[in-house]
Amino acid sequence: MFQVKNLHVTVEKQKILKDLTQDFSVPAGKFFVLFGPNGCGKSTLFRASMGFSKYKVKGEILLDGKKINGLDIDKRVKEGLVYMYQTPPILKGVKFENIVKESIGKEKFWQEHSKDVDILDARKFLQRDINVGFSGGEVKRSELLSISMLPDIKVFLFDEPDSGIDLDNLKNIGEYMTALLKKRKAMGIIVTHSGDILKYIDAYKGAVMYRGEIGCVGDPLELLDCIKKKGYSECVSCKGKQI
Ligand code: ADP
Ligand code: MG
Repeated sequence: MFQVKNLHVTVEKQKILKDLTQDFSVPAGKFFVLFGPNGCGKSTLFRASMGFSKYKVKGEILLDGKKINGLDIDKRVKEGLVYMYQTPPILKGVKFENIVKESIGKEKFWQEHSKDVDILDARKFLQRDINVGFSGGEVKRSELLSISMLPDIKVFLFDEPDSGIDLDNLKNIGEYMTALLKKRKAMGIIVTHSGDILKYIDAYKGAVMYRGEIGCVGDPLELLDCIKKKGYSECVSCKGKQI
């Protein structure tokens, strides 16, 4: 469903990803978990996959076998790929309900998405400027509500959805993401550091990224255990090994 082949990504003349080849595909409803230390290139992989303009790409990004690099961001979303930001932009003067009004219409929004609004406890920030003064949990819930409104998504890219949130939000967000993938028959790729969210999602397979390359690939819980015991740097010596 989602894979990269010989992927090189350069940002501001800096080579971040070097010849990355990895099949991230997992069955519908399940998650591929991407681990890796700060700055190793996880967000770069996601942003380059979405087609953000600063990220210069060589190699192949394949969604359902179709090469999508070269397409504009909106076309990639139409093909079925979406990204949940690690740190989303603050949009002063832009209210969620105005976007809804302009895109699908207020009535249709409430008919189709009121359950999601309630599950994500999002009513109270629909009238506020997006992400202005939002708490950590509100930022993530607002992001989830936005991406859940997009039709025909096959692959969701979740960039540290569990960072900076409390335990109640963690459970809420994890269970919501799980239900979303099941309902949409889609797969997810998730970046997490603590691994706490793995309790609430169906983590099927995982990999460790280190300095722009993939090290170990295997069972996500085993990988997490190994990282906690040995640290990330050990993972690079496992390159090519399946654990
Ligand atoms: P991770 O998500 O694994 O923590 P990132 O992919 O965000 O790491 O960053 C990898 C490296 O690329 C870092 O050194 C970061 O500073 C650099 N980088 C990423 N995006 C940009 C950008 N837009 N401009 C400049 N440097 C960037
Ligand atoms: Mg990141």
